[in-house]
Amino acid sequence: MTNDDLLDKYAAVTRPEVVDHLRQLSASLVGMKVVHVNSTREGGGVAEILHKLVPLEQALGIDATWEVITGESDFYQCTKGFHNALQGYRVGLSESQLAHYEETNRQNADKLRGELEEADIVFIHDPQPAPLLHFCPGRQGRWVWRCHIDASRPYRPVWKYLRNWVGEYDASVFSLPEFAQPLPHRQYLIPPSIDPLSEKNMDLPPAEVEAVFDQFDLDPDLPLIVQVSRFDRFKDPIGVIEAYRLARKGTPLQLVLAGGGASDDPEGEIVLAEVRQAAGDDPHIHILVLPPDAHRTINALQRAADIVVQKSIKEGFGLTVAEGMWKGKPVIGGDTGGIRLQVIDHHTGFLVRTPEGAALRIRYLLNQRDKMRAMGREARALVKENFLLTRLLREHLVLMIGLISGMDERLEVGG
Ligand code: UDP
Repeated sequence: MTNDDLLDKYAAVTRPEVVDHLRQLSASLVGMKVVHVNSTREGGGVAEILHKLVPLEQALGIDATWEVITGESDFYQCTKGFHNALQGYRVGLSESQLAHYEETNRQNADKLRGELEEADIVFIHDPQPAPLLHFCPGRQGRWVWRCHIDASRPYRPVWKYLRNWVGEYDASVFSLPEFAQPLPHRQYLIPPSIDPLSEKNMDLPPAEVEAVFDQFDLDPDLPLIVQVSRFDRFKDPIGVIEAYRLARKGTPLQLVLAGGGASDDPEGEIVLAEVRQAAGDDPHIHILVLPPDAHRTINALQRAADIVVQKSIKEGFGLTVAEGMWKGKPVIGGDTGGIRLQVIDHHTGFLVRTPEGAALRIRYLLNQRDKMRAMGREARALVKENFLLTRLLREHLVLMIGLISGMDERLEVGG
């Protein structure tokens, strides 16, 4: 497929003007060397976005690449601690863990230094690779720290440590205004987005959607509630099971909790065991551990669902919310972080704080099918307007132009 073919596909799913606008914006960036760095190629929202954003930047003539840092399990234990601490948990990290984190970044910098130092723009995603900048003293370009995490109330001692690394950047990007932090540089707001053409989100033949009932031994006659998430306590899978149990007292239904691990998330196994225990032997709770490339399966499960749930208690954005909404499903989501951007209460779904609240909304929607469908239509329209990859790309291009030219521009929120 040529670059033009790829861009035409996005024009077809959005509007031709959307892609014309991207071409105009990118004209001054053609040939620029842009590097994205994160810590996993598969699993979790950041990898999901980079798989799609980087080829689109390339299609626009930008010399974009994506590098993944590597580390030992101690490194991921430490960075998972950062993740948990940024989302508010009191996490204690020892001097030796921090030293290992820094050393791992130094070693990765040794491998990537040539490419990073000569890049025009470097996007460093999340805390894992944050010290790379420090270890690239010969850098030529502008460096941006992109935080995908709900950092609205970070655990202070850990944030104080991370701020030392992040403060050296030229700019940072957060998903929501309330996540922005006092930092000595400009901060920008860019919510994430989903790719409407990816295997995760493309239209599927009805037979492929129906096939998941057989594949996972689901009951085609029972309403289906689906949450897709890494097995992580912030996603509150146990709260979803409680909500299902409460709702099921009034309405027959079945629940799918589908997830897999991310290679940079060492806690998944423990949480999965907790979830299995909470589910007990209920034949209508289906815990699916899927391989990292099960995008079409997840797509089909989200389409097969009557209601998509994302009952997180902290959430940077929640791509799974946009994914469900794009498939015309109302989403019952935790009243937190980026879910609030997407779930417009009573319009595109319901915001909930407790299992009881989620159960009430599940029952309501299953008993009001017309309302459920109308909310699903509103949900899809909201995603089409606001949360597709083309919008994310547009904002990245504007940000890059601003960084290269030193302009202040409209996305700025502080500094
Ligand atoms: N995902 C997946 N397989 C899984 C669990 C999640 O492909 O087993 C995908 C999910 O569909 C979504 C992304 O990973 O695209 C998760 O992004 P989100 O922002 O919802 O949460 P994060 O994992 O980044 O906290």
